[in-house]
Amino acid sequence: MKVKYSYLQEQFANPQTILDGIEKLVQSTDFTLGYPVEEFEKTFANIIGTRYAVGVNSGTGALLLSLNAIVIELGDEVVTCPNAFIATVGAITASGAKPVFVDALEGDYTIDPALIEQAITSKTKALMPVHYAGHPAEMPEIMAIAEKHGLPVVEDACQAISAAIDNKNAGTYGVSGGFSLHPLKNLNVWGDGGIIVTSSEEFRDTLVLLRNHGLKTRDDVQIFGYNSRLDSLQAVVGNHLIKDVDWITATRITWANRIDAGLADLSEYITIPERKPNRRYVYHLYMLMVQNRDGLLEYLQQNEIEAKVHYPIPLHLQEAAKDLGYKKGDFPVTEVQAESIITLPVHQHLTQEQIDYMIEMIHTFYQK
Ligand SMILES: *Cc1c(COP(=O)(O)O)cnc(C)c1O
Repeated sequence: MKVKYSYLQEQFANPQTILDGIEKLVQSTDFTLGYPVEEFEKTFANIIGTRYAVGVNSGTGALLLSLNAIVIELGDEVVTCPNAFIATVGAITASGAKPVFVDALEGDYTIDPALIEQAITSKTKALMPVHYAGHPAEMPEIMAIAEKHGLPVVEDACQAISAAIDNKNAGTYGVSGGFSLHPLKNLNVWGDGGIIVTSSEEFRDTLVLLRNHGLKTRDDVQIFGYNSRLDSLQAVVGNHLIKDVDWITATRITWANRIDAGLADLSEYITIPERKPNRRYVYHLYMLMVQNRDGLLEYLQQNEIEAKVHYPIPLHLQEAAKDLGYKKGDFPVTEVQAESIITLPVHQHLTQEQIDYMIEMIHTFYQK
């Protein structure tokens, strides 16, 4: 049995309704900031629970534009976590700010709120928690710290559509939340796309200017921006797939719960992250901390299970981070995770047989 990590072939086996939507767009020639973008923004804001959503060119663009709207200056600092995807830090550095790292929470993959305050300096301009793997970051604590220090929070919700704490969605806590529509995110399009949610009218107005050269009208430039528009064509795809989000989320949760239960007897070898009762984890990535990770990875791959590692090198130890001055040992929780974490396929196009096969093969590996 084969368990693939990518589901794109199954997902787009019958693309006709999307192609029909694209044909209609082509006939309208409404290619830039057209009617599909407006529709997508309305639906997206509605499902997340914010007043506004602004379509942009990518998840990275969503984070960068939010930082630009906060007006980051060279040398300002933005606090984030070193165990995420490189784009979080890329957006911070592209804004001109310096990323300042805070370790992950033990037993979870999100930023440890207890360590944030000691990272705040007079140069700190924003906090950027990441809802990593679809685990909601500890937003109530993070917001309390942000309020105490008067700092805006930009949530990196690129992996976390519909993740929530007490039914309040990731992306709705801070001044804004950024989402990615990359082909391998839970809600995807046929290329790149992103979207920012906010309930501040002022913030929304700035984002709308920033994504389109700062143009208020064709001839009136209010602020300098650039081009970070969500393509109308990608919005057509998004408008079709957004109807599937609840099903995608529910299926991923079902599979994750089944794997949690199926591996519970292997607690000697496997640490399943704490599942807090008032959280909705959306399992963009299903990650476990395991003993002999590289051995298990190889064994699963030999048995046609496409397990992966997100990520073997934490951000503070990447070549690109050299000038930030961090060293091995600075973020012990993140570093232990990088050595022991494994990601299993958990997507919506898997079958129960495939999930059970993975559980069985992991047992076989540890029982040897
Ligand atoms: C995917 C991702 C991004 C960037 O999104 P793109 O659409 O690829 O630019 C940013 N942060 C995290 C945590 C991501 O997973």
